[in-house]
Amino acid sequence: MNYKITQSGCHRWLGRISSSGYGEVRMLGQYVGAHRLSYLLNKGALGPEEMVLHSCDNRKCINPDHLFKGDAKANAEDMVRKKRNKPGPAILPGEDHSTAKLAENQVKTIKRSKAKGTDLAAMYGVSVSTISKIRNGHLWKHL
Ligand SMILES: [Zn+2]
Repeated sequence: MNYKITQSGCHRWLGRISSSGYGEVRMLGQYVGAHRLSYLLNKGALGPEEMVLHSCDNRKCINPDHLFKGDAKANAEDMVRKKRNKPGPAILPGEDHSTAKLAENQVKTIKRSKAKGTDLAAMYGVSVSTISKIRNGHLWKHL
């Protein structure tokens, strides 16, 4: 598998990247997650409902040491835990919490993008309603 080792020890996938930000490999005529394939090859079998999660939060990473298996529930809990542990930006009164972590240039990209709201939400780690609020001008009006 084709990857580059980063300073943080991640194995950054150099192939195709999906619209939601994960590495992809073409296998038997369809695209599968490169991180899923790495897990399968290095750590063992995966059921169809089982998800491969990143301990490093880097979706392009395929380092098997950074991958662990979980279901959708574990994924949600993992995201909540990481968010809680992250020293968040200072929240100004009235500012929407879910957009506070987006940088201005990301918001501009979201406004310009023709990608599906669900894909953008997954890519930036925000809710689909946040994406639609940005797009219809309810949030980040000044950009
Ligand atoms: Zn990693």
